[in-house]
Amino acid sequence: MALSHDVALRNSMQEWIQAWRNYAALHPEYKNDLHWREQKYSQIIAMLDARISLVDSFTCSKCGITSHNPNDIRERYCGRCHEFQAL
Ligand SMILES: [Zn+2]
Repeated sequence: MALSHDVALRNSMQEWIQAWRNYAALHPEYKNDLHWREQKYSQIIAMLDARISLVDSFTCSKCGITSHNPNDIRERYCGRCHEFQAL
């Protein structure tokens, strides 16, 4: 399981980016500020994603291979067996 505060922080960062986009759309003088924040927040999100994927993993019950791919984990998909697995 991912550390829940990492996931919560990651989602908050995404909400912040969206909030800044909305704000800068109404206030063009904040466009430069928006670009700077988008870059910084995206870096933080990438670091959080990396940490979440290190903690999170999915192990196939059939062949035993472990995947750290977030899509595989979410869909419980084994890339070796090419199968989706029930919980
Ligand atoms: Zn497998």
